[in-house]
Amino acid sequence: MDLAIRNARVRGQRDPVDIGVEGAHIIAVGPRFDGRAGEEIDASGRLVTPGFVNLHLHADKSLLGDVMRPNVSGTLPEAIEITNEFKRSYDPEEVARRAARVLEVGVQNGTTFFRLFADVGTIGGLRAARGLLLARERFRDLCRIQVVAFPQEGLLRDPGAAALLDEALREGCDVVGGLPWYEDTDAEAREHIDICFGLATRHGLDIHMLVDDTDDPNSRSLEYLAVKTIREGYDGRVAASHCGAMAAYNDVYAAKVIDMVARAGITISVNAHINLVCSARIDHEPKRRGIARVKEMLARGVNVVSSQDDVNDPYYPFGKPDQLEVALMMAHTAQLTRPHELEQVIDMVTTNAAHAAWLEDYGIAPGRRADRCAFGP
Ligand SMILES: [Zn+2]
Repeated sequence: MDLAIRNARVRGQRDPVDIGVEGAHIIAVGPRFDGRAGEEIDASGRLVTPGFVNLHLHADKSLLGDVMRPNVSGTLPEAIEITNEFKRSYDPEEVARRAARVLEVGVQNGTTFFRLFADVGTIGGLRAARGLLLARERFRDLCRIQVVAFPQEGLLRDPGAAALLDEALREGCDVVGGLPWYEDTDAEAREHIDICFGLATRHGLDIHMLVDDTDDPNSRSLEYLAVKTIREGYDGRVAASHCGAMAAYNDVYAAKVIDMVARAGITISVNAHINLVCSARIDHEPKRRGIARVKEMLARGVNVVSSQDDVNDPYYPFGKPDQLEVALMMAHTAQLTRPHELEQVIDMVTTNAAHAAWLEDYGIAPGRRADRCAFGP
């Protein structure tokens, strides 16, 4: 065997184990192996986990905070406006270089899978998508990347965007994005979702939308997304990020929607720290947290994940691509502090996210992929 990691703590196992690696795969996990491997590492009882999974990162916007004017109101609409100013002059090579800086730090912090969102629309055309496809190519030996073709200005609000989305998918984007809540009317939000499903079924791809990212209790596109997912037989192939309006729903309606989300097998990416900063801006005290109902979703068996979303951009001036930091913020925001809840938080940046991305070779078990990121004591 090429590598033996001795005395490793693995989640779900009471006693430390040895992990054997041959080539790119784990071949054995169990009590102390005899003999010596080509390389030996003594983990000294430290935790060994599969690589972290970041299911939602706007790498095309990352680090724009270095070059753009600040977001004075701190709101989403102003962030979108600022980004649009810059997006007109996007260049794929520049986008790829900026994304690379963030991806590199992400890998150094243990993330081995990224789902990157690329704005696609009439303002920036296909330039962001082409930049992130370049980054995907350049990082193929370091980590796995999916690129989402994401209509940041809407589809009905931005005539021409649907055709560009189709083109981005033909050029190699992996996932169909969406932003239904951003359309002008409820009817158009539903039409937006229909268009995304049309593209997804035509290209045979999964869907990941940003849904109901508002404090408005009447923002209810998640309900229609769940119905559509069930009717199209897309169970398990749809993810929805944010869904912060869920916090403003009445309890009866929230329970109904959460049940539909569970039945549709929709993954919810709650990027808690971003909502904590952007949501409930116009509340007086007490201010809401403005995040989706994490504990209620977990209790109903919804696959909940948490992702970095933004790194120093007009939406969020902080952040580094570190899924442990994301998990820490999630634990605070959703008040997940009891021992079994802390396990649930780690699931959100590992197994739950891997499940949503169909990473079948993921985990610490024989036959699974062996990515290696080591941290000091
Ligand atoms: Zn986002």
